[in-house]
Amino acid sequence: MPLMEKIKVRGTIVEIDGDEMTRVMWKMVKDKLLLPYLAMDIEYYDLHIANRDATDDRVTIDAAKAIMRHGIGVKCATITPNEDRVSEYNLRQLWKSPNGTIRAMLDGTVFRKPISVKNIRPSVSTWKKPITIGRHAYGDVYSNTEMRILSPGKAEIVFTPDGGGPPVRHTIKEFTGPGIVQGIHNTDESIENFAKACFTFALDQKIDLWFSTKDTISKTYDARFRDIFKEEYEKNWKVKFAHSGISYFFTLIDDAAARIIKSEGGILWALKNYDGDVMSDMIAAANGSLAMMTSVLVSPHGFFEYEAAHGTVQKHYYKHLRGEETSTNSMALIFAWSGCLRKRGELDSTPEVVSFADKLEEAAILTVTSGIMTGDLLLVAEKNPNNIKVHTEEFIDAIAENLRKKLSG
Ligand code: NAP
Ligand code: MG
Repeated sequence: MPLMEKIKVRGTIVEIDGDEMTRVMWKMVKDKLLLPYLAMDIEYYDLHIANRDATDDRVTIDAAKAIMRHGIGVKCATITPNEDRVSEYNLRQLWKSPNGTIRAMLDGTVFRKPISVKNIRPSVSTWKKPITIGRHAYGDVYSNTEMRILSPGKAEIVFTPDGGGPPVRHTIKEFTGPGIVQGIHNTDESIENFAKACFTFALDQKIDLWFSTKDTISKTYDARFRDIFKEEYEKNWKVKFAHSGISYFFTLIDDAAARIIKSEGGILWALKNYDGDVMSDMIAAANGSLAMMTSVLVSPHGFFEYEAAHGTVQKHYYKHLRGEETSTNSMALIFAWSGCLRKRGELDSTPEVVSFADKLEEAAILTVTSGIMTGDLLLVAEKNPNNIKVHTEEFIDAIAENLRKKLSG
């Protein structure tokens, strides 16, 4: 334990614990990097899959409400149950994705930005600057209603107006055999907030904004996204963007995907919910590892939720359970905490908390640039005789040692 007095974090932080390997690392990060130095007022929600099951998933809703009360949360990765998980954990139900539930309640946009370190170059050689993904975090397939069709029959989409009037109905498909259907939605209000969040972020960071959808195929749904962005841009951002020398560019999603590969980077790429989910993993992997990607949900109501962009690293967890050594990367979890602490410090006007967050990130980056790496990074780092692969806990210990030096120096 260090002898220095602990730094007081004034506002409350909503801590949301999770599953598997990320849960294991979460505790190490707290014990070794945070609790020795910070006096935090934490409201803790345990989203371990067994606890979600035991509380009928109430705990997820309570966690989202707590973020609405306190403004800031930090979340560990959690299992989204599928059939395998139902038998693995003997679940009473196929609970919904906790991220889906929380995002639907907070609304907002998820911004994902790679963590750049100088000895790991992106696998796309033209990328000189980081590409940030702005992922709409509301609606679409993440709050869908879907159905298996088991016999011939007609599937329809029906809208019944409040206060009477004839329902509007369209045929989706006249089924002659088994199949599947799905209903998804979005709201103008959420799309407008998404657009505002992206324009604000791009202007703040002075980077170009690209937005892309499949509006040629989805002439109503995706086209509505395109039109709302256009209106918002013309009305509120065109002049400001011109003054800052940045641009807004809309294109078809496949065209954007092709252009991104040839770009220099340094842009914000705004994407619908599913597109952003997929593309952020691609961008993260191209920057070395899924664990080198930060993620923050920015809600139009002024709430922030910080998390890692990756999942619970299930395969590593099973190794850990078998008593084998793992080499799992905690960078994204550490950056979730530093991001949350920095924002907390900014909102509370406590520069010492902001400075701690900066030093924590510097210590983590220094560890990797000095050659101490987890297995995922060693594979992609520039070759250097100093590079060594360390175990999960050794990596966090090395960061803790660098942090201790930075804080006492
Ligand atoms: P994942 O946990 O992201 O891991 C996929 C693979 O990526 C790992 O097997 C590992 O590759 C590599 N990887 C990811 N994070 C890493 C890290 N920190 N350090 C080193 N390597 C890392 O995805 P998944 O295995 O598909 O999903 C596992 C569970 O996570 C699922 O139950 C899913 O529902 C959940 N999930 C949660 C969130 C969230 O809460 N935000 C997001 C996505 C998925 P190697 O095996 O090659 O080493
Ligand atoms: Mg994903």
